[in-house]
Amino acid sequence: MKNKKIIFFFLILGMIASCMLIFQYFLSMEGLENIKTSDRIAVWTVTAVLLIYYLNIGSKPQLVPSILSIEKENNRDKDKPNISFKDVAGLEEIKEELQETIDFINNSHKYKSMGAKIPKGILFYGPPGTGKTLLAKAVAGETNSNFLYASGSEFVEKYVGVGAKRVRTLFEKAKKDSPSIIFIDEIDAIGTKRNLESNNEKDQTLNQLLVELDGFNTDETVIIIGATNRLDLLDEALLRPGRFDRHIYIGNPNTSAREKILEVHTNNKPLDRNINIPELAKKTTGLSGAQLANIANEAAIIAVRNKKNVISISEFDAAIERVIAGLELKNPNVLIEEKRTVAIHEAGHALVSKILNIDVIQKISIIPRGQALGYVLKFPDEERYLLTRRELENKIVCLLAGRAAEKIVFNEVTTGAKDDLAKATNIAMEMVCSYGMSSMGTLALDETYIRYNYDKIRLEIKNITDKAYKHSIRIIQDNLDMLHKIAGLLMENETIDSEELDQIFKDMNMPDYAT
Ligand code: ATP
Repeated sequence: MKNKKIIFFFLILGMIASCMLIFQYFLSMEGLENIKTSDRIAVWTVTAVLLIYYLNIGSKPQLVPSILSIEKENNRDKDKPNISFKDVAGLEEIKEELQETIDFINNSHKYKSMGAKIPKGILFYGPPGTGKTLLAKAVAGETNSNFLYASGSEFVEKYVGVGAKRVRTLFEKAKKDSPSIIFIDEIDAIGTKRNLESNNEKDQTLNQLLVELDGFNTDETVIIIGATNRLDLLDEALLRPGRFDRHIYIGNPNTSAREKILEVHTNNKPLDRNINIPELAKKTTGLSGAQLANIANEAAIIAVRNKKNVISISEFDAAIERVIAGLELKNPNVLIEEKRTVAIHEAGHALVSKILNIDVIQKISIIPRGQALGYVLKFPDEERYLLTRRELENKIVCLLAGRAAEKIVFNEVTTGAKDDLAKATNIAMEMVCSYGMSSMGTLALDETYIRYNYDKIRLEIKNITDKAYKHSIRIIQDNLDMLHKIAGLLMENETIDSEELDQIFKDMNMPDYAT
């Protein structure tokens, strides 16, 4: 659009100049008689070219063709990553599973002579930051294949046909550069279930992807790896045999995998002799590989900031807090009354967590970080794969303890519990809709049922959270002295670590509220 305006401007200038040169033959215009014929011809030619060009761009709808023509030139990032399975810590069973695919690429003749077809589509699914991209790159590295990265969202366009064209170009390129690995991150951006509300462009893109997946012949060694955080959203057609038929779940690492990931990300860093990687792995339960990599990097940055030669445990502790709770605010302007409310709120969480034995508390703080004015840093004390109904209920009791403490001490509640309420509601909703843990019955509720019966479901959720809130109130009322003790210490020192908290609880005879 901007180019068109510029061309128009020069075209007008050219036309004025041309007209003046023509009129000069009939009217006498001083100064123009001396212009050479070759210069006159040049002015008329340039004006004619501008006119033709301007009329041409004016007559065609430009947007779609221009996008498509750029598409052809667009040299997609392709490289041969020098990443191998050695760089992917843990995930041993997944690496084993992928060995067959690697063997197919490295010794394709063996399989082809047997008439065997290798699964061409592999789907990695699981939470963010667990190493899906890294693993796909490692497959390319192990097989010396070209790695073509694409993100599902880059196929999403307004104009019908553009996404499909992009898919075609990507596959053409992969076939030309075979052996190659196509990696489509966030494949759900184009591969979600089709329904009546679907839009035409998205459907065309997905159809093209299906066509390309079906279209490989056995001479081409092209493997396509998709990655998503939401397998449940994908269209059935994408998942059927012959397409993405191998689904590999990549979850957050367990203790031993966390240990290995931390080792990979610290082996090029000077560590203090007292650093105990297995201890660090225990302190980071529930974190993803990406978060662990981030912690190792943050610790190194903090060590430089502290002018240290080696990274010590205090830098790692600071890095863990930084990654989990966000950036510490320097000189925050928090009113003293608000600070006291935050201290009571956080003391409520810590007290109830400790009494119900939910997670191991590492630190309580009322120093604002990120958007939070205070926080309780805690991790599950062991790897858990199953949770009982009682444990889920107790988690909600802990989440609502901040609000309960505010209510008891100030007889007033604040906005500080927003995040806790969202998390508590979410757990209760899962209990009702997914785990069959309510009077709705032992069944999972599908989306359509939830949509049409939301009032009933909401009532069930409310029953769970109301009961948990009452439980929280009871625990805090029975241990009010303890609550004030923790909050008082927080007001004094701003933080309390696990040993100090244990000290406060040491001589107490705790009543058993967990039942
Ligand atoms: P997303 O779903 O958000 O795209 P992802 O699962 O693709 O995330 P990656 O991009 O592969 O995650 O991982 C991010 C970074 O985390 C990697 O570059 C790497 O530094 C680190 N990381 C994650 N898992 C591992 C692992 N198993 N071993 C070593 N590093 C890891």
